[in-house]
Parts: sequence; C-alpha cells; structure tokens
Amino acid sequence: MQEIRLASRPTGWPTADNFELAELPTPAPGPGQVLIRNRFMSVDPYMRGRMNDVESYVAPFEIGKALDGAAIGEVVASNAEQVPVGATVLHGLGWRDFAVADAAHVRVVDPAAAPTLSAYLGLLGMTGLTAYVGLLDIAQFRAGDVVFVSGAAGAVGSVVGQIARLRGAKRVIGSAGSAEKVRHLVDDLGFDAAFNYKDAPVRQQLRDAAPDGIDVYFDNVGGDHLEAAIGSLNKFGRVALCGAIAQYNETSAPATPRNLALAIGKELNLRGFIVGNHRDRMPEFVAEVGGWLRAGEIESRETVVEGLAAAPEAFLGLMRGENTGKMVVKLG
Ligand code: NDP
Repeated sequence: MQEIRLASRPTGWPTADNFELAELPTPAPGPGQVLIRNRFMSVDPYMRGRMNDVESYVAPFEIGKALDGAAIGEVVASNAEQVPVGATVLHGLGWRDFAVADAAHVRVVDPAAAPTLSAYLGLLGMTGLTAYVGLLDIAQFRAGDVVFVSGAAGAVGSVVGQIARLRGAKRVIGSAGSAEKVRHLVDDLGFDAAFNYKDAPVRQQLRDAAPDGIDVYFDNVGGDHLEAAIGSLNKFGRVALCGAIAQYNETSAPATPRNLALAIGKELNLRGFIVGNHRDRMPEFVAEVGGWLRAGEIESRETVVEGLAAAPEAFLGLMRGENTGKMVVKLG
C-alpha cells in the first residue's frame, strides 16, 4: 500500500516538498477491524492548519507520519460482523490507498443513494452540512434576506448560495477568483450577482452588487471580504464565520477587518462555528438537500484529481483556487 506523509512543516505557502509518498506492506485487520480500499479522499483547507505544530480544535499532523482526513472506500477484509466485506464506508483515514480502521470508527453508507461516491465527501457530506448549518443555524437565514457568500464557487460556498436561493433569499451574491467562476455562479448555480474579487476592491464591488445592503454574510475568506461585508451589512445583520482562507498561508497577522466597531451600532451578530459540533443536524440536512439533489434542483460540481501521488498537488491547487466545487482525489 501507499500513503502520503508529512515530510516537513511549511512556513507560509506549502510546497510539494512538505509531503512524501511512502510504500509499505498492506496491513491485515485485527479483531473488530476492517481493511478498506479507498476510492476517494478529500483535501480541505483546514488541513493547512494541521501542517503547523499548534494547538487547535484538531490535532496537528506529525512529521514522518501519514496525513489523514475524510475518505470513502470499500471493505475488502473484515473482522467485524456489522461491517461486512463489500460495504461502502466513510471514515477518517484518507491520504492512503488502503486503510485499516476500527469498525466502530467507520460509517456504512448506501452507494446507490448518491450520484457518485465522492458526493459523500462533498454535497452530501461534511461540506454540505457546513453550508447548511452555517447558513440556517449560525447566520439564522430567513426567506427574504439578501445573502453574500465568499469563496462562492468552492465546495461550501456553492452549496450556501444554492440553499439560500432554494430557501427563498431575496438576492444571492457571490465572490470568486476568476471570470469563469463568476459565470458559473450566475449561469449554472442561479446566483443573482457575482464578482471576481481580483478585479477591484471587494468593498466597491459588493456595494455595486448590493446597493441596498446585505442581511447575511457567509464568510469563507476573512480579511478584505469580511471588512467589506461589515460595511455593507444592514442593521441586525448576521455573519457565519466559517473560514478565513485568505490568511491560512500568511506569516503575519491580517490587517483587515479594520471596521469591526461598526458591528456595535449596527447590532450585528458575528458567530463562528465548527461543523463537527453540529452533526445532530445530519438527518434534516440529508432529507432536505438529498431531496433537492434527486429533484435536480441543486448542483454538485466536483473537481477530481487522479491518483494518490497527485493528492499533495490537489491540496495545493485547492488553496490556489484551481477547484470549482469540491476538490476530491480519486484513488485506485
Ligand atoms: P473551497 O472548495 O472553497 O476551496 C478553497 C477556495 O478558496 C479556492 O477554490 C479559492 O477559490 C479560494 N481562495 C483561496 N485563497 C483565497 C483568497 N486569498 N481570497 C479569497 N478566496 C481564496 O474549500 P471549502 O469549501 O472546503 O472551504 C471553504 C472555507 O470553509 C474555508 O475557509 C474552510 O477553512 C472553511 N470550512 C470551515 C468549516 C467549519 O467547520 N467552520 C468546515 C469546512 C470548511 P477562488 O478561485 O475563488 O480564489
């Protein structure tokens, strides 16, 4: 079997040299364990934080050891009755082609209930749940709201915008990093307006797209985007602080937002969240978003990179904006 290990910790932007591919004998499952042949693994922005040796809500990766993260595959050997050979399972041992896991730590899923297995890592998985919980519970979205989402053509952002549209937003605005992504948001995903944040200051482009202000901001980016949103938010506006990807590879503290004091007079509610603490919302989320998927009302775009050896490049590409929708790696 093969696995990708952390070779060294990056300072600033990571490079391919921070990763190494290792070959080792395929292990046999012990009592209560299963051997899984991985089919898809996820690469996610939060993994950048795990490359640093700092305390966080999730443990750092260790130098010389395999990275980990969400993956889906098939059980090829089993010492656990409840997870038989042939079962399709979701688990946390990505970044390798074969994985031995405790049966108690895998979730059996129905491959026929999704358009592709990888959808369990994207629209129908933690990515979709992040969008659902962040928009509906954290930002307290209501029909009639004007919603702005950054990172809008990415995995989480594209779902946020579509849920807002389907739940009756007055107007959905997205920002993304290329003309093609802006076109995709408006033409394919039904956003009312979108802009390329690289074209002109976000503050100005957001004001033009939302002359009457916004009610909800779903923040995937932080920095200038958050500052612009605070400026455009209406009284009692709500912000879901989901991510701050603009600063993940920076080596100094962010200079923006500089206008946080506006939150006082506008009586804004800015609230952070970690999706892992909202798993109780999974049943409602799967029922509602799964229904839209079956009805063809929501799109689940993915960018698929082939092969374990290309996983570091997929991860680096994610931070450079090379993905539209969820970035996944196809294995085997
Ligand atoms: P995406 O699919 O959105 O991929 C990341 C995207 O970020 C890129 O495609 C790129 O798109 C954009 N980006 C990169 N650098 C910048 C920058 N400097 N300014 C603006 N955009 C940038 O990833 P996810 O959907 O998986 O994650 C989106 C956000 O949500 C991240 O911040 C992540 O950390 C966070 N997250 C938080 C969770 C939680 O529990 N709180 C759970 C899951 C994700 P572009 O071409 O548009 O620049």
